[in-house]
Amino acid sequence: MFKQAKWEEPLIYELGSGREGIRFKEINDEFKKILGEISIPKEIKRENDPNLPELSEVEVVRHYTRLSEMTYGVDSGPVPLGSCTMKYNPKISLKLSTDKRLQLIHPLQPDSTIQGLLKALFELQNWLALITGMDICTLHPAAGAQGELSGVLIIRKYHELRNNLNKDEIIVPDSAHGTNPASAAMAGFKTIEIPTDNSGNMDFEAFLSSLSYNTAGLMITNPSTLGLFEEKIIDVAKAVHEKDGLLYYDGANLNGILGKARPGDMGFDIAHLNLHKTFSAPHGGGGPGSGPVCIKNRLVKENIMLQDLLPGPVVYYDENDKMYKIRWPGKYSPGLMKSFFGNVQQLLWAYTYILSLGPQGLREAGEMAVINTNYFIKLMKDSKGYSIPYGSNRYRKHEVVLSAEPLHEETGVTAEDVSKGLLDSGFYAPTIYFPLIVKEALMTEFTESETKENIENFAKRLKEIENIARNDPNEPKKWPLNTAVGRIDMVKANHPKTITPTYRVNYLRSKGLRGPLR
Ligand SMILES: *Cc1c(COP(=O)(O)O)cnc(C)c1O
Repeated sequence: MFKQAKWEEPLIYELGSGREGIRFKEINDEFKKILGEISIPKEIKRENDPNLPELSEVEVVRHYTRLSEMTYGVDSGPVPLGSCTMKYNPKISLKLSTDKRLQLIHPLQPDSTIQGLLKALFELQNWLALITGMDICTLHPAAGAQGELSGVLIIRKYHELRNNLNKDEIIVPDSAHGTNPASAAMAGFKTIEIPTDNSGNMDFEAFLSSLSYNTAGLMITNPSTLGLFEEKIIDVAKAVHEKDGLLYYDGANLNGILGKARPGDMGFDIAHLNLHKTFSAPHGGGGPGSGPVCIKNRLVKENIMLQDLLPGPVVYYDENDKMYKIRWPGKYSPGLMKSFFGNVQQLLWAYTYILSLGPQGLREAGEMAVINTNYFIKLMKDSKGYSIPYGSNRYRKHEVVLSAEPLHEETGVTAEDVSKGLLDSGFYAPTIYFPLIVKEALMTEFTESETKENIENFAKRLKEIENIARNDPNEPKKWPLNTAVGRIDMVKANHPKTITPTYRVNYLRSKGLRGPLR
């Protein structure tokens, strides 16, 4: 396994000493002829020169190259983050989505001059509708959470248009991604939490007893964050519809059922997808996200077109003019969640992924993701340190949540210690301490792109850590030893006070450094 470089890299403000990377021309008479006399109003003029780092080009290049060597990404090795689906980002998508002819397009250009892009977006809208079994999609939202908020606002509008004034509750299982209850609350709903039963399904009895005519809808992930397919989903959908509620599908991770099962066929009315997860667009530091939202015909009401319920612009083909056009959101829509069409580069990334795999390839990607999860489970079955809570003997779909609780009880070594031990051997850690219903959770997902050897090495390393913990429980507390940065203060790192720009500027100042603002 490779070792990460380990050294302290200063902030760019700590580097440099008055050297220049670029020399600006004085504004001379020639410029003045073109630009006219420039006079900046006194009230907006700076009193002092801005405090910018002063480095030569080679210093800047080396600084960022060193930083890039200290980080770890899906191009360096496995990133088995459950729920976050970090699959490989194919370079053919990079090539297409960064093509200058597409990148330099302006969203306010006339439709007639961007027919190629609009055609691609139109096709993507249709493909996503086909993949999800829904009737129409918008590509506009910038992330899963934005898709969710749009979706819950659509639920709100649906009931408003029907004068269902008592609909103020959204049901959410306790295994849900944190964004689900947050989105419901942002849209003004109360959330009702349903426990998970021993076999890993939403507790059906508890669900039925919380269902009422106040139920505006149900938000659910299927397969759940435990990687388990909700076995009673058809009955759940029927029960919600009987109470005139809607079903919202959180399709951030569609990988487990890609090409096999569709939310539209399970009875869902609204769904969002994360193109930066299932459809291979990069996320995290790699780029912004994309959370298209798709809905079913049954949401229509007389005189309101289906696309009028969706946020952001929707592309359509005008048969009379024989061209693609953009329909802007009307008064029944949640409106704009961000500017223009969404994160177009992400959309093109997903477009290329779908186009290059085709229907059969997408199905195989889903199958491979599921096989990888279950192969890993099989490798871990003989371990005493890690258990698989909830439906231990069921097959998982895209991911599995291991629990390091047995190891913790025996040795005091935690899921966090285990994850640091993984970092030391050149793996990225799984998602830890989520979902909240699993103690010492290690939520692991390999996707279709991980190799068999890496899955085997990962399982081997987990067992090695288990043995080290038994021999010397203090050893794992010292990890990581091979990474660029050691353990950080977790409380400080998450505290709202410490993650604001003001904090960072004050921190720089306290070290006597020149911050970006002053
Ligand atoms: C990632 C994820 C989300 C949120 O998506 P963002 O793009 O991070 O906002 C919602 N639900 C599930 C199940 C997810 O995995």
